[in-house]
Amino acid sequence: MPYSCPKCGAENIKEVEDKSKVLGYAGHNPIYAKIKVCKECGNRFTD
Ligand SMILES: [Zn+2]
Repeated sequence: MPYSCPKCGAENIKEVEDKSKVLGYAGHNPIYAKIKVCKECGNRFTD
């Protein structure tokens, strides 16, 4: 996935679930928002 960090420009990005943000539920399972985290500088962002 060719994302790049808006802060440092690195493309070393991972996508994680933001467990503080529940979008909804699928049955009993919460669906979490996804956020991207730069592995270079630690910046967290969404697109
Ligand atoms: Zn970065």
